[in-house]
Amino acid sequence: MESYQHFSLAAYVFAYYLDGKTEAQIQRDIDAFRSAAPLNKVYLETHRALVDISDKQMEMAKLVFARNGIEVSGGITTTGLVGERKPAIFDCYCYSDEAHRAAVLDIVRRTARLFDEFILDDYYFTSCRCEKCIEQKGERSWAEFRLEQMEEFSHRLVEAAREVNPK
Ligand SMILES: [Zn+2]
Repeated sequence: MESYQHFSLAAYVFAYYLDGKTEAQIQRDIDAFRSAAPLNKVYLETHRALVDISDKQMEMAKLVFARNGIEVSGGITTTGLVGERKPAIFDCYCYSDEAHRAAVLDIVRRTARLFDEFILDDYYFTSCRCEKCIEQKGERSWAEFRLEQMEEFSHRLVEAAREVNPK
């Protein structure tokens, strides 16, 4: 299908889809999608919950979309399990816990090596109420604590991406 005249269409391709898909399957799905609507850009997700897409699989997916003239960027969903489950809804990461922070930064570096641009799915928030969070929160309200913590970590996240990919 031809592109729209006044806007372009992007799709967020989550890791559950990319996991294990073959080149032929992805091509078939692109064709099916394009029979209904134009597709100008995709965000290919490297991580969601317990699923990580290998670099090899992602390079293959990138090639298939690019070969179809579709612009390719990355995506990350910041949910997962690191060690014991935290008191947090949706298994969002705990940004007071060094192991969780390191896990997120690893995913960010891996994604930045594959893509010059990536977006974060809207699970990028914290809902953790573990002892580390309670301790770091101190006298602040939960809202103040979380806003400040996510702002601080967001700067760290962008730095980590730029360390491996200045673009
Ligand atoms: Zn926590």
